[in-house]
Parts: sequence; C-alpha cells; structure tokens
Amino acid sequence: MIIQLSKHTDASEREVLKEKIGAFGIKVTEVSTQMGDYLIGIGNKDFDIRKIGHLKGIQDIHIVSDDYKLVSKKWKVKPTSIDLGDGIRVEDGAMAVIAGPCSIESEEQIARVIEHLKACNISMMRGGVFKPRSSPYAFRGLGLEGLKLWYAHAKAAGIKIVTEVMQVSQIDEMLDYVDVFQVGARNTQNFNLLDELGKVDKAVMIKRGISGTIEELLQSAEYVFSGGNEKIILCERGIRTYERASRNTLDLNAVPILKSKSHLPVVVDPSHGIGIREFVPQMALAGVMSGADGIIYEAHENPDKAYSDGQQTLNFQQSALLADQIKKTFALRKTFQLL
Ligand code: PEP
Ligand code: MN
Repeated sequence: MIIQLSKHTDASEREVLKEKIGAFGIKVTEVSTQMGDYLIGIGNKDFDIRKIGHLKGIQDIHIVSDDYKLVSKKWKVKPTSIDLGDGIRVEDGAMAVIAGPCSIESEEQIARVIEHLKACNISMMRGGVFKPRSSPYAFRGLGLEGLKLWYAHAKAAGIKIVTEVMQVSQIDEMLDYVDVFQVGARNTQNFNLLDELGKVDKAVMIKRGISGTIEELLQSAEYVFSGGNEKIILCERGIRTYERASRNTLDLNAVPILKSKSHLPVVVDPSHGIGIREFVPQMALAGVMSGADGIIYEAHENPDKAYSDGQQTLNFQQSALLADQIKKTFALRKTFQLL
C-alpha cells in the first residue's frame, strides 16, 4: 500500500499517522523524495483502506500488490520523465541516444568524441572513469581526474555525462560532475550503493544484473526511489545465459515487460547486450522497436585501439549511421499502433 501524504505534513503529523496505521498490523516505512512524501504499508493484504482514508495528512491511498511499490505502474500511471536540464530528457514517447566510449582514455579522446556527438546531434555521452574489469590487470579508468577533464569539455559543449559509480565513497566526489550516475550490472544488487544514490538529486541509470531477473531490477530501482530519489532510468544490457556465441543475451522481452510494470523509462544497451561490433546496430534498432525510451551504445574513433570493450564498440562512421537509423526507426515505430 502506498499512502501519498499531503504537502506540508510535518514530522509530528507523520508520526501520528504511522502509529494509527501501524495499529492495524501494518509495517509502515516513511519515504521522502524530491517530489513528495509517502508512507509505504506492508502486510495485511485484506486491509480496508476506508479505515484510514479520512486521517489528516493523507492525500491518496493506492493498493499495490507487487513486491516493489513506488516504481510500479499500479499507482503512478503517468510515465516518469527524467529531466536533465537544457531541454534534455529521458522519457516515454521520446528516443534518448547516449553514446561514447567504454572508458574515458584521454583529454584528446574526450574532445574527439564530443565533436562526433555534436555532429550527430547526440546530447548525452557515456564513458567510464571507474571501470569494473574482470581482470585486476586491465585498464581500470582515469578516475576522478578523468571525470573532471570530461566535465569541462562536456559542459562547454552542452553534453550530459552518464558514467558509472562503483562504490558509495565515490558518490560525493563525483556528484558535481555527473548528470546520470550509472549503476553497473555487477552492482545492481549493491544495496548500500542504491541506498546512497537515493539521497542524491541526480538521475540514476540502473543496469540489469548479469544474472538478474526483471523483478530484481525493479526491486533495485525501488531501493533508490525509497531512498528518496525518483529520477531513475532502467537499462536492459543483456543477461548471462547458457549461450556462448554472444557476450550476453540481450533480453528485449524485458523492455515491454518493464514498461508495462513500471512508470520508469527504459533504455537498451546493445553493445554489452550482444558484445559483437557488427551486430550492435541491428540489436539497437530492435531495441527501438521493442519500445525502449533510449539506446546507449559504445563508440570510439578507433575501436581496435580502445582500452576496453573495443570488440563491441562502433567507429564514428558506424555510430553516425546508427544514430540516424535510430531516429528513423523511432519515427517508424510511432506510426505503428501497438497495444
Ligand atoms: C559499461 O557500461 O561499460 C559497463 C561496464 O556496463 P555493464 O555494467 O552493463 O557491464
Ligand atoms: Mn563497456
């Protein structure tokens, strides 16, 4: 049960409400976000909400049977729009394109990528400065200094930054330089990290766990929302299956399912999803047709020289072509009457 509180309830009114609702055998958790105040009630499935509907401070009550509550579409039918400022949004009914290298490698590379993105009319850049690598001997990113360099260039160019945060201690130092905190597939269930990202006023893009279910992804999003941050983007990036012919199995089933279960925007990452450069465009366009609100892919001037994930990274020419095809495919999708 989600109890939406009226604006301007004070702490003592909330305490009274918690006590009165708790008396019905319901476990109550208080949630305050940038957008509103809520009480989440768990237990007593047959509870008659008329017993509390009249209480002072309650604006609305919603019964949500899903285990995740606040990210569910059952109470918030209107899709959530993530506003990154300067007219840049990730939202239902639009097609966000996020492109850039797997890793930020140098100032020169940053400048070249930004030049490429500008030429393609892409306003969001991805790139890792803290890289989760399977081997401790692989390149692990330029760290905070790299992020600061990137920020200086991106800000001047009006480009938004999407980058991975790997641990709680990095959040504060990264905060001023990031537009979207990416939670990587290896960290989808790092609940401490999710809790802390609930406290920031920046968007968070949560990737699906390597072996994560759709439900688990939604529960991870619930952590961030219940921590206080409603600005969440979900990302399908492929899961580990028994298939070895591709790096991961891009589960495009997840897109319409996530969209039907949650009000949050969903983006698709075909680069990690298939892991094979020449097939990334096909899967990106399939992602568009599956109903995604955005595509995030890896692009580099010289993918064979990339410090990480070169095998799945498009060169600038391929990237420019794909950016254009994403737009055309999205325009085509909009002409279809899907359920
Ligand atoms: C990445 O985006 O480069 C990355 C490491 O992604 P994932 O967490 O999906 O593996
Ligand atoms: Mn990568």
